[in-house]
Amino acid sequence: MSAEQKLTYLRLRIRAREQIKSGRIPFRAPPELSGGYGPSLNECVLCGMAIVPTQVEYEVCVAERRLNLHVACYAAWRDECLHRLGDHTLRGPSSAALRALVR
Ligand SMILES: [Zn+2]
Repeated sequence: MSAEQKLTYLRLRIRAREQIKSGRIPFRAPPELSGGYGPSLNECVLCGMAIVPTQVEYEVCVAERRLNLHVACYAAWRDECLHRLGDHTLRGPSSAALRALVR
């Protein structure tokens, strides 16, 4: 992972953490998802950007909500959920450390 990719990932982890805290997205990523290219132009629930047809879109259903995400956004959300559930292999830096890294 390049430094730029790592920075993008950390920003997405921060966003996932904030959105989980605010209740905008669930704290548990479901184990099953579907994905593919499509002309949907759905908005990514995490970053808010459109998912354009040349990008892979992941779609998950949680509590009767359908969530659409970019692949990288899904990964950040999933990792943040696993971190919150105590998966120590994905122990992330503290919120303060994440913020320091991206400022
Ligand atoms: Zn996104």
